[in-house]
Amino acid sequence: MHRRTFLQAGLAPAFSPSGDRILTVRGAIRPDELGVCLPHEHLFSNFGLEPADPPVYDAPRLLREVLRYVNSVKYLGVGAIVDCTTQYFGRAPELLRRISEGTGVHVLTNTGYYGAASGRYVPGHVHEESAGRIAARWVQEFHGGVGATGIRPGFIKLGVDAGLLKDVDEKLIRAAAIAHRQTGLVIAVHTGDNAEAARRQMAILREEGVAGEAWIWVHANNCGDGGALREAARAGAWLSFDGIAPETLERHLALVQMMKSERRLGQVLLSHDGNSFRANGTRPLKPYTALFTHFLPLLEKSGFTRREVQRLTVENPARAFTVRARVTGI
Ligand SMILES: [Zn+2]
Repeated sequence: MHRRTFLQAGLAPAFSPSGDRILTVRGAIRPDELGVCLPHEHLFSNFGLEPADPPVYDAPRLLREVLRYVNSVKYLGVGAIVDCTTQYFGRAPELLRRISEGTGVHVLTNTGYYGAASGRYVPGHVHEESAGRIAARWVQEFHGGVGATGIRPGFIKLGVDAGLLKDVDEKLIRAAAIAHRQTGLVIAVHTGDNAEAARRQMAILREEGVAGEAWIWVHANNCGDGGALREAARAGAWLSFDGIAPETLERHLALVQMMKSERRLGQVLLSHDGNSFRANGTRPLKPYTALFTHFLPLLEKSGFTRREVQRLTVENPARAFTVRARVTGI
């Protein structure tokens, strides 16, 4: 069956409350409007370059190249892309909106600060301000949009380095918990193979009365500790297996199979961490198509049903990114 037909022939997704919304750069949509979603990509970024906000891009070239690329991904069946480029390394909501308008693909942008990369993309005020004050900045973007664009973020994006969480990271995680309670935006944290940081983050969320369902373990595919992944899943976390590429298929298949045997397929997110315009076009594009060209055929061959593929590619991202406060009631 043609890939697109396979995806679209899935059962009607089971979505709940009718008031639920997902915030895209073109405004709020219903979760069942999202379609097949790539929950961790970069349409463009200046990662590796000097921190800057607003970023400096060759906008005509960026638009030309990214529009062409996103259209080609759309042809494979994509309905939505979650853009994980944060403020200070290239977030540009108006460019995202132009790409979304030009392609019809839904795009989500984010609020939050990226604490990995030794904190080079964390602004100075973080060191002076309380978690509550930092959270207020993000909540302000949630209500009023980014700058004067009127474009609202659809999730909170953070990042932590290897090793124990630094004080500044703990503060940013706490700020995200506070902001989550006030906005219902899901918190996606670049955590990778740092299982200890994952545990600590979830503990901070619990202290702040935020449930595991509000937290995405980004780059969980890099974690070799299956026990830690299962533990996080049992605590409600989303596991983002977002390194899909032709050379990592078996690794990702094993992870998805592990989650299936744990009956936790409903908490898995699949993506590439691709990038269609890197470092202002000076580095080669990192594709985000292998899910369609390689991985879904492999899932099918490995006995995954159409219903399960529908959950992984459509329903899970829709639930993860639905604006909804997930609190523990304490
Ligand atoms: Zn990324």
